[in-house]
Amino acid sequence: MRRKLAAGNWKMNGTGAALSELEALAKGHPAPAVDILICPPATLLNRAAQALSGASIAVGGQDCHADASGAHTGDISAGMLKDAGATAVILGHSERREDHGERNEDVRAKARAAMDAGLTAVICVGESLAQREAANTLDIIGGQLSGSIPDQSTGENLVVAYEPIWAIGTGKVPTLEQIGEVHDFIRARLERRFGAGVGRSVRLLYGGSVKPDNAAGIFGVPNVDGALVGGASLKAADFAPIIAAL
Ligand code: PGA
Repeated sequence: MRRKLAAGNWKMNGTGAALSELEALAKGHPAPAVDILICPPATLLNRAAQALSGASIAVGGQDCHADASGAHTGDISAGMLKDAGATAVILGHSERREDHGERNEDVRAKARAAMDAGLTAVICVGESLAQREAANTLDIIGGQLSGSIPDQSTGENLVVAYEPIWAIGTGKVPTLEQIGEVHDFIRARLERRFGAGVGRSVRLLYGGSVKPDNAAGIFGVPNVDGALVGGASLKAADFAPIIAAL
């Protein structure tokens, strides 16, 4: 059985004052029945890990460099994330692909580094609106999966997040049929590549405008093992009911 996962992506939001939201979240979930992961900005990672020490809530990064160390001003390695208290890292988010020109092969190299450092890679895939309207969704997702996911992936070190770009931060959500179609496709691709054992144990998250009022419906879709939540993960009062719906 795959354990459900509620992951929060804070993106470029939050200063020290936001740590109180984590404390509230931890207080409300002393023994959660699902896995909870919060990915704050790198500046807060260590303080978040400390604020949550003793709580059953993990913290993760939002990106890492493919190299372990070296002359890469402004970058952070997977080992540094781990050292700061992270157990996971989001990779290949569409905002990174867009803002930083990250290609599938870049995401794969980063994921390899993350897995080598002992982190779980939460690899994001998703189509643009134009790609969906051109009926290219599954082709695009298939290419992103084969290009971005490293060979050493297992059910423990890999999570895949399906995030249609047009649903992120827009309040637009695909139909449950559309979500189900893509999740079934991702599952089948993982099973084909890694075998049924690994393919069936990788958790698949849906992301894109997940809110307290639509979470339960989305979580009822087969092969949806949780969510990657942006805006609604910033406040404990919004994230808690999403966790409760899992
Ligand atoms: P959103 O973002 O929940 O604010 O749409 C999701 C994401 O980008 O991970």
